[in-house]
Amino acid sequence: MSTKIKIPSRLEVVDYELFVDYNINVYIKRDDQIHPEISGNKWRKLNLNIEKYKERLYGGILTFGGAYSNHIHATAAIGRDLQIPTIGIIRGEELTSESNATLKAAAGAGMQLVFVNREEYSWRYERDYKELLRNKFGNVLVIEEGGANYLGVIGCTAIVSEIEMKPDYFILPAGTGTTTAGILMGIDQGKVISVPVFKKGDFIRDEIAELLTYSGLGEEEIAEKMTLLELETNCSFGGYGKFNQTLIDFINHIYAETGLKLDQIYTGKMFYALCERIKSGDIPSGSTVVAIHTGGLQGTSSIGDKLDFSV
Ligand SMILES: *Cc1c(COP(=O)(O)O)cnc(C)c1O
Repeated sequence: MSTKIKIPSRLEVVDYELFVDYNINVYIKRDDQIHPEISGNKWRKLNLNIEKYKERLYGGILTFGGAYSNHIHATAAIGRDLQIPTIGIIRGEELTSESNATLKAAAGAGMQLVFVNREEYSWRYERDYKELLRNKFGNVLVIEEGGANYLGVIGCTAIVSEIEMKPDYFILPAGTGTTTAGILMGIDQGKVISVPVFKKGDFIRDEIAELLTYSGLGEEEIAEKMTLLELETNCSFGGYGKFNQTLIDFINHIYAETGLKLDQIYTGKMFYALCERIKSGDIPSGSTVVAIHTGGLQGTSSIGDKLDFSV
């Protein structure tokens, strides 16, 4: 796609005392290194959508996101790199392109930001609304919020196909669950531990099953895939974007011990869940785990003074 893209991403051993003590082999899939700006799994989800864009005569790419959306940031950066016009429909009519670092970066990359109120934003899955947007903005390719569409799921299956071994567990954070659905699509054995980063994350199970139906799997196949999924809903730290001193101390500790940089919104919560599950014995001795570093490190800029590293 662009010369800056680093695919396949590296798979590294994580050398950490807790893992040695409990006899667990932990690897980390460094999707955070795919691109300096495009948060790892956002590239996975956009990649095939961009290929679709290139195949037809679209006038640009339009997508949706909240004020702090990594997906908006990623889409804007890809648009800039590939000279594709991008339009971001942003939730919140009170916002401007100066409101925060994410929106500033997106506008700086050339994305046209359109700020809409909550009601209008809630129409984003409706066919008529998408049609209206296509007419208004000139035959644009409309990509769902968070890249949560069929091509997004398929793009994420590559995370699995790039790995030669078959681990007992995959673990990753979940927002829309698209990346989790892609991992489930890609595997035929092992468990997937998905860590919703918001409160009351149980509903994501249904969303993931729904995303799997887009991928052409039959009912039975989906039911079988869903038996491989374990949700870890106790590590949301109070909700989306929320964190406390325990999480900050944990992120700094992991950095000091392993050199790994994690963020407080997604990957820090995932790695915390991994350590908790190892300590509780839920992940038994002798297991092999692949943790997916989905990226998102630019999200640490808002709490830079609390962390012992910069990105
Ligand atoms: C967006 C994002 C996620 C969530 O991915 P989903 O496919 O929406 O579940 C996870 N990690 C990072 C770093 C992200 O930016």
